[in-house]
Order: sequence, then C-alpha cells, then structure tokens
Amino acid sequence: MNDNILSHEMDRRTFVTSLISGCVIAKTGMFALYGDSIAYASPEITQPPLPYKEDALEPYISKRTLEFHYGKHHKAYVDNTNQLAGAAGLGSLSLEEIIMKTAGSADRVSLFNNAAQTWNHNFYWKSMLPGASKPNERLTKMIDASFGSHDNFNKEFQNAAVTQFGSGWAWLVLDQGKLKVTKTSNAENPLDHGQTPLLTLDVWEHAYYLDYQNRRADYVKAVLDNLLNWEFAAANLPK
Ligand code: FE
Repeated sequence: MNDNILSHEMDRRTFVTSLISGCVIAKTGMFALYGDSIAYASPEITQPPLPYKEDALEPYISKRTLEFHYGKHHKAYVDNTNQLAGAAGLGSLSLEEIIMKTAGSADRVSLFNNAAQTWNHNFYWKSMLPGASKPNERLTKMIDASFGSHDNFNKEFQNAAVTQFGSGWAWLVLDQGKLKVTKTSNAENPLDHGQTPLLTLDVWEHAYYLDYQNRRADYVKAVLDNLLNWEFAAANLPK
C-alpha cells in the first residue's frame, strides 16, 4: 500500500469512525434529551394555540397587539422556560411543577419568571373571548356573596388592574371558598399562594401599549365590559 492509498484509507476509516461516533453522540443526546440532567430544551412545554384568531378581539385588542404579544412575548417565555428548565435539570417537570419548585428560590428567579409568565399567558388568552359573556348562576351567586354585586366586582377588578404599580396581573381567584380580586407583580401568580385562579388580565404595557398607549384604564374597561370569558371562569371552579 503506497502512502497515498494509506492516507486515503486512514481518511476513510476516520470518516467512518466519526460517523459512528457521531451517531453514538447523537443517540446519547437523544437519551439526554429525555433525561433530567443535560442542558437540552425540554420537549414537554409547548405554547398552546390561541383559542381564537389574532383579529378576533378587535376593536378592543388589535391583531397587531396579538401578533406581538402572543407571537413574540409569550413565545419567548416558552422558549426561555424550555432552555432554562433543561439547564436546571427540571426538563421533565410540568409547567406547574416548575413554577412550584422555583417559586421563592433566589438562584432560580429567571426560570420562575419565564415559567410563570408562560403559565400566566396561557391562562390570559383563555380568560378572554370575542363577544361579551355573563357569569352563570353559580358564579353570579358567588359574585354577589363576595362583592355585593357585579358592579362592585367590576370596580374592584378595575381598581386592582389600574393600581398595580409597574408590570403585573389582576386576578379573580377563589380563596378558601370566597371569590377575591388580587393583583400580582411581574410574573408572580396565585398558584403559590394556594389560591385557585378563575380569570386574569395582563397589565404589562406590552398587553395594551400599541392600542391604548398610556391609557391602561381604558384597556382594562374594554376587556371587563366586552371580552371576559365567564365560561372559562366557571370551568375553573372546583366541581
Ligand atoms: Fe403579556
């Protein structure tokens, strides 16, 4: 065998060995993908489709807002959650498990923020529906018992949403058998307070700025009067 042939043969062997090694590495990677200790994106958490078309909430929330809010902001939270959960060895957990495991953990703030924001947005899209709806009989009784009237609920929710300082969320929750209106900052949500969320409203500026600029109160009123999904709220009540 002359040097050229030898060299060619070595190249071929190296190439074949590399291919085999590559397959082994790729396969190991696949196993790692489903394991819990390698920094791969988790296959578990996906962005649910919007429950309506992007222009379905007009004229109260524009298609352009949903294109950015759902298509960019929410998607980024989902992507970041998958990356960070994989890196933290939590890629096999559900979204709710990640939130509960990272809430209050100083070294996992970023994962908590992205996971909770993913969950909050999943919940927010379902909290709205084109066309005004009304609470069913059970919820109407609960609203009257907890707030005195639907008007009082509206005022309390509007107040919470407008006075949330900076970015955050307004919520209707069930807390120890009673309905309550609450507000949370940034990504925080009622899950780690032992409350059952029924409805939410995103009051981060990205939720309304394209349509309402600084007029958050107008956005809140438009959603309260025209888009709240009371069927979804009822479905979130314990049976
Ligand atoms: Fe948002």
